[in-house]
Amino acid sequence: MKRVIGIDLGTTNSCVAVLDGATAQVIANRGGYKTTPSMVAITETGRKLVGHIAKRQAITNAENTVYAAKRLIGRKFASPQVASALRQASYRIVEGPHGEARIALRSDTLSIPEISAFILQELKIVAEDFLGEPVEQAVITVPAYFNDNQRQATKDAGLIAGLDVIRIVNEPTAAAISYGTAAREGSTVAVYDFGGGTFDVSILELGKGGIFKVLGTAGDTFLGGEDVDERIVEWLVGEFQTEHKTDLRKDRMARQRLKDAAEKAKCELSTVTTSDLNLPFIISNERGESLHLQRTLTRVKLEELTADLIDRSIDICLEALADAGLAKGDIDDVILVGGMTRMPAIQRKITAVFGQEPNRSVHPDECVAIGAAMHGAALLAEAGRKPIVLLDVTPLALGIMTHGGGFDELVPANTTVPTTRVKTFTTSRDGQTRMSIVVQQVAKDRNGERVDLGDFALEGLESKPKGAIVVEVSFSIDANGIVAVEAVGQESRRKAAITVQASSGLTAAELQEMQISAAHAMAERRHGEAIESERQAAQSLVSEVERLLESLRSSAGDSSVLGATMAGIEAVLTQAKVLGDGRDPGKLKLLLPQLERAAQMLRSFGS
Ligand code: AMP
Repeated sequence: MKRVIGIDLGTTNSCVAVLDGATAQVIANRGGYKTTPSMVAITETGRKLVGHIAKRQAITNAENTVYAAKRLIGRKFASPQVASALRQASYRIVEGPHGEARIALRSDTLSIPEISAFILQELKIVAEDFLGEPVEQAVITVPAYFNDNQRQATKDAGLIAGLDVIRIVNEPTAAAISYGTAAREGSTVAVYDFGGGTFDVSILELGKGGIFKVLGTAGDTFLGGEDVDERIVEWLVGEFQTEHKTDLRKDRMARQRLKDAAEKAKCELSTVTTSDLNLPFIISNERGESLHLQRTLTRVKLEELTADLIDRSIDICLEALADAGLAKGDIDDVILVGGMTRMPAIQRKITAVFGQEPNRSVHPDECVAIGAAMHGAALLAEAGRKPIVLLDVTPLALGIMTHGGGFDELVPANTTVPTTRVKTFTTSRDGQTRMSIVVQQVAKDRNGERVDLGDFALEGLESKPKGAIVVEVSFSIDANGIVAVEAVGQESRRKAAITVQASSGLTAAELQEMQISAAHAMAERRHGEAIESERQAAQSLVSEVERLLESLRSSAGDSSVLGATMAGIEAVLTQAKVLGDGRDPGKLKLLLPQLERAAQMLRSFGS
């Protein structure tokens, strides 16, 4: 039976889980870590690095190391979010052919789904190594607040990585699923998810028979640990400017070192009350003298620098509660998700606002991937699995842009998905054969961000007087939160040809090309790894045979019977060494059984 993996594709870290028997477990990567940094780098020699190895070289290769790409996924280059990323990122963000954000790495310009696909591929390998079989299906999580473009782009990333994404699930919902097994039926929980790049909150009711009903959700895709780090960086830059009259931001490497040090200090301050930041030789001044940065950050100062960010997250919680028609006292449990929830100030604030200590029964870094794996298994109806019924909501209103540039809402925010709404349109001109409609999604937060999902045109309408043609357009949101639009002529019942052009997505041809090239790179990597493991096996056999041969020679002396055998073994050894150096995989593989036989024979002499 094929297995499905659950992937939490995070802004800072990603995590993969799979169902092992009755329970889901997170799989450790080759370095033994249960989460993998969501970082991708290209080295000077053109080698692609993903995860910890990318993170380790980020300072010396800042311009070609991508982090927090999730903040750019499905975004237009001209969006304010990309503008803000442009100011902070140490890598180069450029405009792609569809007006979308892309990243220039060495001589390549990569789309964000391609970057995310590198991370997904890495996690796929982690799972395959663990399971010992290929993995094809995945459930990937996204922030509840992701719009259609961001969901589509995440699905595209999965496709490029060679994964069939059977479901996109909202992160807080996945966390609730992982928590749900331990929960009291009928309880109402708030999932407070403060991750590296995004903040999400969902209010859920855990009903009988594995029903998870989302009552309300709210969030901010630009509020996360990165913003907290940035506040520390700003403070350090300001202090340095006052002391040395030098702007640290003008140097990419200095910026990256500041960012790393800021994050480290932030994490330390969750357990201790002061943290020393020491960055020697961070920059040179105009006279060419090396300057050093040395500061002590206290927990109190960190809390002062970030109080408004935490307050914003609480406001969003209250918004979600209001949407759910609930009061703070109606919440039975507050579940903490995301690395940032380790910050004491966040825990204190939640305790104060909800009048109870947050629940600590789920692992903040692992529960999202675990919930995704559990949901995946339930979707495939794996043997003996209890069904999970997810009644999620769309956090964004769906509608169309009116002629005056306003917004005509068709599906209000917080509507349970899947859902379909139909609206009729009539032609506004005599002989009109084409009608064009712009589909939009609108966030209900204070920014009221309005995102174009695409414009579609109804073509081939019959030429009639104005108002005579009535077209029913249905807008649906599926269980993945992905939008589809269909149009039917009311009288003729003929489907009009419509094309929805995702405003920042990849074309089918581009996707296919990326998929092929990623599959090719993966096959090459797997091949290289297989060769390397054969080479290592041969090498350890060669050393063993050499050792055994030496000891046999010293005990057998010039025995002519063994002489021929030893000469034969020596010939195999010489050949293996030559092939091992020359990395001839095919021939080396052929030698492995001979080496194994020689080792066996020599072991029997020794015993
Ligand atoms: P996630 O997206 O859930 O992996 O969360 C990652 C964010 O959590 C990053 O901004 C980390 O710096 C932050 N984080 C991880 N550990 C801690 C900690 N002990 N204290 C404060 N923040 C942390």
